[in-house]
Amino acid sequence: MATFGSLSDRLTQTFSALRTKGKLSPADVDKTVREIRRALLDADVALTVVKDFTATVRERALGDEVSRALNPAQQVVQIVNEELVTILGGQQRRLEFAKNPPTVIMLAGLQGAGKTTLAGKLAKWLKAQGHTPLLVAADLQRPNAVTQLQVVGEQAGAAVFAPEPGNGVGDPVRVAKDAIVHARSRQHDVVIVDTAGRLGVDAELMKQAAGIRTAVDPDEVLFVIDAMIGQDAVSTALAFQEGVDFTGVVLSKLDGDARGGAALSVASVTGRPIMFASTGEGLDDFEPFHPDRMASRILD
Ligand code: GDP
Repeated sequence: MATFGSLSDRLTQTFSALRTKGKLSPADVDKTVREIRRALLDADVALTVVKDFTATVRERALGDEVSRALNPAQQVVQIVNEELVTILGGQQRRLEFAKNPPTVIMLAGLQGAGKTTLAGKLAKWLKAQGHTPLLVAADLQRPNAVTQLQVVGEQAGAAVFAPEPGNGVGDPVRVAKDAIVHARSRQHDVVIVDTAGRLGVDAELMKQAAGIRTAVDPDEVLFVIDAMIGQDAVSTALAFQEGVDFTGVVLSKLDGDARGGAALSVASVTGRPIMFASTGEGLDDFEPFHPDRMASRILD
């Protein structure tokens, strides 16, 4: 994955230097931890996350599990792997489906984060599993957004609910509510609500998103974050957590060559799991997120 390429290279270098050693001295551990710390910071992982991470790795690396290990260096790599899985959210978290359909999934995030594209990706993925998703155009800020969702819906082979001219135009809460009624009458078992984003976090946008959340009581609120956004990832995520209390994170644009570490901090800082990863513009460039697989890729 291009995004974590340089972090991955740096960690690999650190570990290969370690592997030439038999027993590890406390000085070896400290040097290794310092290098890991620098690699994570250079990859834009948030400072608080780096501090906790390196403190835990150091404590474990100086402990019994390493001194008793047949291959101490390998044991340190194993510890780093386990702790990476932890900051990435631990266990994989799957979508929660409602007992009484439709399951409502709301998408939130900044403009350009990849929400509309994600709506299409999710719809296609859900359809392949036998679901009958309905896409809802509740992004009424951008003139193109409704058309863009219609295009994506067509590509995914999913129905799109958009406001009729003159009927609720400009009122995304009303559109979202009407869409749920429509979904029930047409046997759609999943409703995916695309919401408006702005270039920066702003109070009005957050109020609107919160209004939609209250009106449709979603089973999942997915916060979509562009892996390229760098250090702003953490503050943006915290603002959306406060504003819409999302249930899961979607990392998008992991195919880019950004350093990616900020996006890695989001699960740890918000305590919400990363549920999906988007890796391109095409509707198939998308996969459920597995913390353990991602950690292995980074340490590969
Ligand atoms: P929205 O404003 O949040 O709805 O964002 P869009 O879905 O319109 O996406 C903004 C731009 O990013 C579009 O040009 C998408 O094609 C592109 N995009 C979305 N997801 C990805 C991704 O995972 N990788 C790449 N490279 N581009 C993406």
